[in-house]
Amino acid sequence: MGNQVSTPFLLKTSIFLSLLFASCYGLYWNGASPLVLPFVGAGVSRVFFEVPLETNISLSFTYTSNLFIIQPMNPFPSFELKDGILVIVYPWKTVMYKMRISTLPPSVEILHTPSLGRGKSGLVIYRVGSSIPCQTWIEDNLGCRYYPYEEKKVWVSLVGWPLTTTRYQLKIVVEDAAQNSVEKLVSYSPLKTTYRVRTIPLAREFAKEQGTEVNLTNLTGDPLKDYNTLMAAFAKQTKVSVFELTYRRSGRGGQMFTNLPFLPLQEFAFSSLFGDERRFVLEGKVMRSSYHYGIDMVAPSNTPVVTPWGGEVKFADYNGASGNTVIIDHGLGMYSVYMHLERIDVRTKMMVRAGQQIGIIGKTGYSTGIHLHLGISIQGRYVDPTDWTNQEWLENHILEPLRRYGK
Ligand SMILES: [Zn+2]
Repeated sequence: MGNQVSTPFLLKTSIFLSLLFASCYGLYWNGASPLVLPFVGAGVSRVFFEVPLETNISLSFTYTSNLFIIQPMNPFPSFELKDGILVIVYPWKTVMYKMRISTLPPSVEILHTPSLGRGKSGLVIYRVGSSIPCQTWIEDNLGCRYYPYEEKKVWVSLVGWPLTTTRYQLKIVVEDAAQNSVEKLVSYSPLKTTYRVRTIPLAREFAKEQGTEVNLTNLTGDPLKDYNTLMAAFAKQTKVSVFELTYRRSGRGGQMFTNLPFLPLQEFAFSSLFGDERRFVLEGKVMRSSYHYGIDMVAPSNTPVVTPWGGEVKFADYNGASGNTVIIDHGLGMYSVYMHLERIDVRTKMMVRAGQQIGIIGKTGYSTGIHLHLGISIQGRYVDPTDWTNQEWLENHILEPLRRYGK
C-alpha cells in the first residue's frame, strides 16, 4: 500500500541553507535512474533540490510510507546536473543529502583472461576506474555470480565452467554508487575437453556393507531394494550441500596459495577421473548414472590425507553419500573437498596449515573401495582437480598471473 504521488516541482539556484549542514548525508546520483531514499512519509511539508544551476528542471517524486523516489521528468540528458543538496523538511526536522552527481560510467580494463572449457577453471583479473565508490562482480549466462577479491582497484576472481553446461559466457559488471553501470564480456581461450563414460559394477553385498555406518537395520536381502534403502538413508544423513557452503568466496584472498601442487596423498593411483559419466550396475541393472565431480585417488588403508595448502576448515563431519567429509576454504573462492575418509583429524572452524594431516583414507559413504575422493570447488562449481595437482598448470594459470598483478 502507501501513497503514490507524482508531483513535478522546480529546481532553482540559490546558496542558502549552509547553516543547516548538521544532518547531512552523502548521496550519489546519475540524474537518470530513479533515486530511492529511505523516508518517513508522514508529515512532510516540503521537498526541494538545491543545485548550482540556472536552468529549471522538473523532477517527479513518488513516495510510499518508507521510500522516497526521485526521477527527472525531462528526457535525460537535456539538462545539466551538478552536485547539490537534496532537502526533505519534516515539521520536526530537516534532513539534507549532499548530492554528488556523476554521469560518467566506471571503466573496466581486463588484465588477464583464462583458458576455459567444460569443467575447467582459471583466473579473471581486471582493473576498475571510478572516482566514486563502486561494486563489481562477474556474472555467467546461467545467472550465477562470482564475487572477486580487490586490492588497489585490481579485482581478481577464480571462475569455473560447470561440467554439464555446453555454452558458457562470462561478463564483468561494475555498478557505481550513482547507479552508472558498465558490462564487459570476458573472452577466454577455449579448451577442448572430453570425458569418459564408465560402467562400475556394484557388489551384491554393497548395501549391507556400506549400510552399517548409517545403521541400516531394515535390509531385506534383495540387493536392489536394499540399495534404494541405503540411498534414502544417505540422503537423510546429508548435513550440508557443498554448493551452499562454497558458492560465495570468503573474505580471504590468495595468501594461502603456495607453489606446491595440490596433492593430498604422497603416492596414489587415479581410478575415476573428473567428468566421468558413471553407470553403477547391480545385478545387471543400471541403478544410478551420475557425473563424477572430483578425482578418485587410490592408496592403501591407513594412508594419511594432508591438506596441501593452508586454510580454514568449513566442514568436518559425516555427510551421507560423501561419508566422512572435510571441506577447506583456501581463499579466493577456492575450496577443497575430501570424501570417504575413515577418520577425520580436524574440526570445523579450525585453521590448518599446508601439509597438515586432516584424516586417513577410507571407504565411508557411497564408495566401492578404499580411496580418497578429492573435489575442488570454485565458488560453488566443481572443477577438474587434475589441473590443480599439476605444478605447471598451477604456475602458468594461477600463480604467475596472481604475482604479476600484485597478489
Ligand atoms: Zn569419487
